[in-house]
Amino acid sequence: MFENHKAPEADKILRVMKLFADDPRADKIDLGVGVYRTPEGLTPVMGAVKAAERRLLEEQATKGYVALAGDPGFHAALRQLTFGDSAAADRIACLATPGGTGAVRQAFELLKAQNPHVTVHTSAPTWPNHEAILDTLGIRWQPYRYYDAATGGLDRDGMLADLAAVKRGDVVLLHGCCHNPTGADLDLSDWQAIADSLSRTGAVPMVDLAYQGFGNSLDEDVAGLRLLAAAMPEMLLTVSSSKNFGLYRDRVGLLLVLTETPAITQAVQGTLAWLNRQSYAFPPDHGARVVTEILSDASLRADWTAELTEMRDRVIAMREALAKALRLETQSDRFDYLLSQKGMFSRLPASEDQVAQLRREHGVYMIGDGRINMAGLIEETVRPAASAIARVLT
Ligand code: PMP
Repeated sequence: MFENHKAPEADKILRVMKLFADDPRADKIDLGVGVYRTPEGLTPVMGAVKAAERRLLEEQATKGYVALAGDPGFHAALRQLTFGDSAAADRIACLATPGGTGAVRQAFELLKAQNPHVTVHTSAPTWPNHEAILDTLGIRWQPYRYYDAATGGLDRDGMLADLAAVKRGDVVLLHGCCHNPTGADLDLSDWQAIADSLSRTGAVPMVDLAYQGFGNSLDEDVAGLRLLAAAMPEMLLTVSSSKNFGLYRDRVGLLLVLTETPAITQAVQGTLAWLNRQSYAFPPDHGARVVTEILSDASLRADWTAELTEMRDRVIAMREALAKALRLETQSDRFDYLLSQKGMFSRLPASEDQVAQLRREHGVYMIGDGRINMAGLIEETVRPAASAIARVLT
């Protein structure tokens, strides 16, 4: 049966991780990694997570099944953290999923069940798994202009021109904050312009939120999607708790679907539960319960917020240090655009060959499209990384 079996090409990011692991050089620098790291190179279990897990260990009386859509307490906690009061709770259907990827997958499954001919419009570029999952499901997708490599910012005119041409019932996929892979975010006037455009075209927004708290703050990072939620009759939101709770392997995600009325929401809620049922039945509960525990307890929540702030500040400090070092190395402001980008990621204007050269000759690892993760840097590696980048890119 499997004699002629061929595996699909490995994920770009996983390929870089493997190359890095196999490199024997002691001074290699990993900017390819997609996770937060401390200066010691660890992706830590957050203090509030440990405390919540201790409580669960002591107090949890059963591991019995919860519900196909997950725990309503978890839904409410993440709904409040993300949407806040921007839309009425009885208009929002919720589905707990394995990670944000699971939420994205189930969101696309829902769209396909609703309309097999739907087109999903994705930012150019976007997180490659968006496109991969859409391809797997046979859903049509079309990039809209987004990143302006010349400025390192948003191609606002290009984006709005492309979004003006989308059809009623199409879906426009946006990144809630900390755009992956570019770090180029929308400001509130951009979100407002998108809301106006969607209202004109009748397209539906889907927002993917994987880095809340890594941009400016927990609330500022969702101000844009809250603006959309207040303005739009329908919207999808996919949330990952992997990064901001450090719960990567526990797989914590949520899909939220805003509909026009509570009655429609009830119907969609039924379909969401069915989507989980025929995929894996019950979603993982442990990490979701940890998130709920943290968000519902004032003291744990304060600890978590403080630790998340520390993580964000470290990423911002590394971003600023790299921009400064690149200024010195290149004697130019060519890389100052890094300062206006948000979150862990930025994109260097590097060709695939230059990325390979950085890896081969300097032991500096990044994704083939030039995506770098600031959390892969520590004070000691900023200068050598900048020097290698300057040498290869100028
Ligand atoms: N969306 C985006 C844009 C992401 O960057 C990620 C994490 N790489 C995810 C969704 C989902 O992450 P996870 O499945 O690990 O929660």
